[in-house]
Amino acid sequence: MVAIAIDGPAGAGKSTLARRLAKHKGFIYVDTGALYRAIGLKLIRKGITCEDTAGVEGVLASTELDIRFENGEQVVVLDNENVNAFIRTPEVSMMASACSALPPVRAFLLDMQRLLAKKNSVVMDGRDIGTVVLPDAQVKIFLTASSLARAKRRFNELVEKGQEVVLEDVLADIEKRDYNDSHRAIAPLKQADDAALVDTTELDLDESFELLLKTVDDIMKGGN
Ligand code: C5P
Repeated sequence: MVAIAIDGPAGAGKSTLARRLAKHKGFIYVDTGALYRAIGLKLIRKGITCEDTAGVEGVLASTELDIRFENGEQVVVLDNENVNAFIRTPEVSMMASACSALPPVRAFLLDMQRLLAKKNSVVMDGRDIGTVVLPDAQVKIFLTASSLARAKRRFNELVEKGQEVVLEDVLADIEKRDYNDSHRAIAPLKQADDAALVDTTELDLDESFELLLKTVDDIMKGGN
């Protein structure tokens, strides 16, 4: 099995690029952020805050989370419900970021992520894939861009989906999530020592993909 780990901050284009890379390589694409989002969604629905550790643990104990692949697309199944349509709102983003700092939440998702990479060749994206989840991944990429470039992309995505948003709010959300993700005590967002940096600030999507693919292929060639 081959594992390509792609980490980086919110809005760096990880999911779009990782999905495309997986298709190109014939691997499955695992979007680990969607798993944290599903937990965030359930906590919101149950009215439990992240400060309520016992409440969070109770929710996890009664949660069944699974992912399926339909036509190569990841479907997140939370307690037998396909929740893909509900996990992309700004509210769920913020809850996912907050609850992902909690040890029981990270522990709950760790085995699931490792098992997927054991059974399949994967492109897996997240925040701690190269550092914690798959420290032995053959290829590790840290994909980033300036916070403004990332906020503009996320803003355009949300507007396309018909959501009413303001660029300044999207930027503030991104910066808050960056802060949360890189300052938490366990599995903080950081570049693994052996990860290659891919900065897409000045690049459009196709250019970013070309750079990513070249970087991945160079590492795979070097490793063989
Ligand atoms: O990647 P995405 O923006 O969908 O992730 C949502 C949130 O889940 C992130 O802000 C981060 O806090 C958390 N996350 C994480 N570890 C991962 C993937 C996501 O902590 N591997």
